[in-house]
Amino acid sequence: MSAAPAERPAPVSRPRGLRRFAGPPEPRQERCELCGVPVTESGHRHLVDTEKRSLACACIPCALLFERQGAARGRFRTVPDRYLCDADHRLDDGAWERLQIPVGVAFFFRNAALDRLVALYPSPAGATESELDPETWQTVLGASSLAALLEPDVEALLMRRTEGRAECYLVPIDICYELVGRMRLLWQGFDGGAEARADLQAFFAHVEERARTQGTGRPG
Ligand SMILES: [Zn+2]
Ligand SMILES: [Zn+2]
Repeated sequence: MSAAPAERPAPVSRPRGLRRFAGPPEPRQERCELCGVPVTESGHRHLVDTEKRSLACACIPCALLFERQGAARGRFRTVPDRYLCDADHRLDDGAWERLQIPVGVAFFFRNAALDRLVALYPSPAGATESELDPETWQTVLGASSLAALLEPDVEALLMRRTEGRAECYLVPIDICYELVGRMRLLWQGFDGGAEARADLQAFFAHVEERARTQGTGRPG
């Protein structure tokens, strides 16, 4: 027996089970990776998992707990949220040239477990990470008052060089990985292209703003 095809009802309410196939993907609920409570995009912090060398999302109480334990150097370390600025960083041009950083932007951090000094920068091949010998680190960053304040694994020194001028900031390391991830999506050609450059401008405007409101060069 063949029934006449039923007229398709207007999709007022879809059966629940179909939603995830038919509708737009629902945003994934972010959760604290330590205790499992739901967290919001802007209302959570990050921990560095020093064993896996990755970032973990954490609720504020968990972040504060691991912040207090920071001195014990456990597996998880809370990324601080301070931004500091070294307004008159003197840069050794020769040393910077030798690093061959294509857009003039790089992050530098210390990996405590491996006892390595690392430079990370956006490039046509994606994020490029290279180990620095202590001598180069000293030449490029040693003159900055921020180098002495840098917390291993969880903070980075951010350098930008534009027409003979160098800026140096101390920033949370999670924003470095976020920027590198966005650059990977936006990057075009050798120098990144207009969209990547606009994103970089916005990123530095944010960093400058945060550093200005938090003061300069002195830990809080
Ligand atoms: Zn938690
Ligand atoms: Zn997160």
